Amino acid sequence: MIVKFSCACGNTSPSRAKEYDGSLGYEAIVCLDCGRYSDHSGEHEADKWSLEFCDVKKSPASRVIERDVS
Ligand SMILES: [Zn+2]
Repeated sequence: MIVKFSCACGNTSPSRAKEYDGSLGYEAIVCLDCGRYSDHSGEHEADKWSLEFCDVKKSPASRVIERDVS
């Protein structure tokens, strides 16, 4: 649960950020507006991983349905 959030792009809404809770204790908060993310080592520019993470979170249901059909 994100209670406080701010990004360099100007997004300060926790509802437009997603928490990534990975294995081995890795955690990050990804901005859904621009893809920048913060983890234990600081803030990072958007990269392939963070952008894919945003897309998956936006449409998880459609991807599952596509796989079920085939
Ligand atoms: Zn941002």
